[in-house]
Amino acid sequence: MTAEPVAELRDVEFGYTATPVLEDVSLRIDSGEYAAIVGPNGSGKSTLMKLMLGLLRPDTGEVQLFGEPAHSFDDGSRIGYVAQHASASKEMPITVREVVKMGRFPHVGFRRLSDDDWAIVDEALETVGMSAFADRRVTQLSGGQRQRAFIARALAGEADLLVLDEPTVGVDAESVDAFYELLEALNDDGITVVLIEHDLSAVTDHAERVICLNREIYFDGKTEEFVAGDALARAFGTAASPAGDSG
Ligand code: ADP
Repeated sequence: MTAEPVAELRDVEFGYTATPVLEDVSLRIDSGEYAAIVGPNGSGKSTLMKLMLGLLRPDTGEVQLFGEPAHSFDDGSRIGYVAQHASASKEMPITVREVVKMGRFPHVGFRRLSDDDWAIVDEALETVGMSAFADRRVTQLSGGQRQRAFIARALAGEADLLVLDEPTVGVDAESVDAFYELLEALNDDGITVVLIEHDLSAVTDHAERVICLNREIYFDGKTEEFVAGDALARAFGTAASPAGDSG
């Protein structure tokens, strides 16, 4: 019955150097939301994600994840992270099932996976439509299939927050549509989705909420209102002059 936010940033400012790349950022992600973060290159999207996940600490302000300070949050199994290209997997000659099995590690510790764990792994593979590829090496997958394998790993970990950083870069067009349909289905099942996306049509077709960023938040609200408004033009228009805050 708790209305605890999944993630919350309050008055966050952050810079890698003395110049802030994020300023005045406050936002709250509630359970069950499907939110997309958009903005020009270098606008701070990945930085925002890293702050949200506790991988970076804000210079000022506060970040909470599942009601705890994000930097000390340690229940990684609640969060499924799908990186751009899922590149780490490219060199690893392991099978899809082995990748998905990793999702169980936080739950099993040093014991062997039980039949129940394997059932969860198989179900995750099935949910993402990858059962037929379970024994294939991830090096032999298409980009879209690889991203599905990484989603399955998150599902096997019973993550309730999926965080994706431009997950469809390098994925062919048909697979992109299917990928977004999968995300939508998972969201319908109750998983919170936060997505960094450069493909605006994917965002406007699928996300319910848009957060438009360029150092500060230009828009945060319903996708329909984002489409109807001018936040995107303003965010991109000021990209070339990040210090242009006079007047
Ligand atoms: P986006 O994800 O929107 O492309 P980033 O969050 O990656 O934006 O970057 C925001 C700004 O911070 C950019 O100016 C970028 O050059 C800078 N930046 C990102 N990562 C680092 C880093 N590790 N060290 C220094 N500057 C960084």
